[in-house]
Amino acid sequence: MKNSSHIKSKPVIATTSLAGCFGCHMSLLDIDERILQLAELVEFDKSPINDIKKISRPVDFGLIEGGCCNSENVEVLRHFRDNCKYLVSVGECAMMGGLPAMRNQLSIRECLEEAYLNSPSVQGCNEEGIIPSDDELPILLNKVYPCHEIVKIDYFIPGCPPRADLLWDVLTSLILGTSPKDQYSVFKYD
Ligand code: SF4
Repeated sequence: MKNSSHIKSKPVIATTSLAGCFGCHMSLLDIDERILQLAELVEFDKSPINDIKKISRPVDFGLIEGGCCNSENVEVLRHFRDNCKYLVSVGECAMMGGLPAMRNQLSIRECLEEAYLNSPSVQGCNEEGIIPSDDELPILLNKVYPCHEIVKIDYFIPGCPPRADLLWDVLTSLILGTSPKDQYSVFKYD
């Protein structure tokens, strides 16, 4: 009978989306049938992919999509840092703020007025001119921050979103402890 202490447990992955659009997670699903291989190599903890809501054990690799635009993003990111051995910024939003960081040139007041009062999509929907300010809502940060300006990030996977082949290559390299292959052919910035 095998001694269970000799059985090597699989690395654990957790993922989250902060100020992102879930496109990076969609790209991870674009590895298609390799997702079955990935499931052989790792166990998933908290992730939108399996809908597990909370980190339940020590995590080896935490994948972060999106930067930080509010207090809840910061809280989640710090929780990942505290519970993940390695943190990976996935995509331009996590690495540089991405599209949400376009608001960095404006004041918070201007952003809120555009979102709730002035944009064409709210015309006729908010006659009372209410800008939500409930205490339970996350507090907006003064600007959108890339993740590495909030916590230490160990690895970065560029792209918007990173191509599925790049995600596969980097993830399997991290999991297996090998060097990533020819990455430049699978970089994508558009
Ligand atoms: Fe979406 Fe691109 Fe940001 Fe990923 S990097 S969350 S795909 S906008």
